[in-house]
Amino acid sequence: MTKTIGIDLGTTNSEVAIVESGQARVLPGDDGDLMLPSCVGFSETGKLLVGREALRQYAAAPDRTVRSIKRWMGTDHKTTLRVGGTESDETRDFLPHEISAMILRTLKQRAETALGEAVTQAVITVPAYFTDAQRQATKTAGEIAGLEVLQIINEPTAAALTYDVRSEETERVLVYDLGGGTFDVSVVEITGEVTEVLASHGNNQLGGDDFDRRLQLHLAAKYRQTHGMDVPDDPATQARLLRAAEQIKVTLSSHAFAPVREAFLGSKGKTALHLETEIARSDFEDLIRPLLDETLEAIDRALGDADLQPDDLDRIILVGGSTRIPLVQQMVEDHLGQAPVDGVQPDLCVALGAALQAGVLAGEDVEAILVDVIPHSLGISAAVDTPMGIMPGYFSVIIPRNSVVPVSRSEVYSTVSDNQSAVEIEIFQGENQAAEENVPLGSYKVEGLPPKPAGAIEIEVHFDFDLNGILTVTTTEKGKGQQGTLVVNHAGIQRLSSHELKQARADLDALFEVDELEADEPIDVSATETKEGISLDPELVTLLNQAQKVLDALEDEQSEELQDLLEQIEEAIANQETDALPELQEELSDFLYYITTNS
Ligand code: AMP
Repeated sequence: MTKTIGIDLGTTNSEVAIVESGQARVLPGDDGDLMLPSCVGFSETGKLLVGREALRQYAAAPDRTVRSIKRWMGTDHKTTLRVGGTESDETRDFLPHEISAMILRTLKQRAETALGEAVTQAVITVPAYFTDAQRQATKTAGEIAGLEVLQIINEPTAAALTYDVRSEETERVLVYDLGGGTFDVSVVEITGEVTEVLASHGNNQLGGDDFDRRLQLHLAAKYRQTHGMDVPDDPATQARLLRAAEQIKVTLSSHAFAPVREAFLGSKGKTALHLETEIARSDFEDLIRPLLDETLEAIDRALGDADLQPDDLDRIILVGGSTRIPLVQQMVEDHLGQAPVDGVQPDLCVALGAALQAGVLAGEDVEAILVDVIPHSLGISAAVDTPMGIMPGYFSVIIPRNSVVPVSRSEVYSTVSDNQSAVEIEIFQGENQAAEENVPLGSYKVEGLPPKPAGAIEIEVHFDFDLNGILTVTTTEKGKGQQGTLVVNHAGIQRLSSHELKQARADLDALFEVDELEADEPIDVSATETKEGISLDPELVTLLNQAQKVLDALEDEQSEELQDLLEQIEEAIANQETDALPELQEELSDFLYYITTNS
């Protein structure tokens, strides 16, 4: 029996897990890392990079690299990436699900390498608050990557599945999930092996990336204070500042202060300008507190929807990398009057839960049953009879939010005017009474109605919401029994036709095959091994060659600075101080970038 894998397709990191002997396990990549950064790029030679390699080049080559693509899922936002070699300006546009497919394909390969067999089926997680279009885009990405997506499940639900409930008593658990780009809170009820989501709420545009950006602005302000001018506004410098902000943020989770040392950020005349300062944890906390307040409001709303008080909760589980921030833990604890549980791995539990669910679907001996709910109410725009007359545009809910899935519901509507020959069925998702204020999912016209007085013709609208969170709408004209199935047109993204899917898969195969061919070429070790027997990062070798080329052309002051840096590198190599090399390499990369953009 081939394995069904569980995938956490995260904004910042993604993981793949499987179940073995009833236990879920996250699979490591070649580098031993369990997390694959959700970052995709093309190298200077036009080679596809997915994961850490892509992330590493993000600051230096933002035009070749993309991260946090999850934020765009379900839209037709195009990412333009330079895909050709250094000399070429060749670019290509990618849709969000195409980029996600590259990440999923890499995870599929990771699982195949670990298992030694082909993998074709998966369960993929999404934020509970993802809309229909976003879920559909995720499913499409899986299909392009060559995976049959058996089920799309909510991330907090997956996390709760890994929670080891010891008693047979019903436990109510609040799952607070704050990742890189999204925030979710769910109230989950666990009875024995059954996990049921009572309510979910969140914001799919809030997460650690926002903290990074606030800190980036703070750093830019410090630079302005020091140098009386702005940090250069080019994408590469801004990306560097953002990367620095993220590192500082992570440091501040375990330290009260974080040093900042970003060399060659800008220039005044011929003088290079650096940013050297220190950030206190309390300053960072002041920056993010307003955003965290929003998450507390979401907690209250989810509790309200589940009809529970904080005291009714038995456990609080924190999920997502951003919950490592001490202030997050503190604020959740203060707000709910209870400390979150220890021992749940915030970065891995979503993938582990997805694997457990995959195990259940594949018929493995796993003790977990999942009951999920829909995150948004679904309905149509209808006219209502009011004392002031008939009011159009009212949002008539057919499936209320937090209904257990799969769910099918119908409502019957009638014509509002005499001899009405057609009815427009407009579908929305959301909670506002005014239909137009909600997210439109598509529309459908029922035509050819026989001439009858107002109210004499009835149309049944049937909503079918499946386990993947995908909605199918069917209308039936009750007189003649004439039926139609609604083609739901998700905000900009349609389901791919089988031809389009084939094409998208072939495109992806081509990118990965080129990659595999290149991987087979032996690396020229002689170029990267020093006489001291240290093997250098090939990137450092390229930088050193570049440095030698530009050295003579530099003005005195810059030439001295570069010479000094090169000497430090030579010394580190001679003394076999390999630990010092990554930092020096970064400094060299920054310097070379600085002189190429300021010459
Ligand atoms: P996730 O989407 O769950 O992988 O979470 C990724 C987010 O967690 C990113 O914004 C990371 O910068 C952030 N993160 C990871 N580790 C830490 C840490 N120790 N302190 C603060 N934020 C972190």
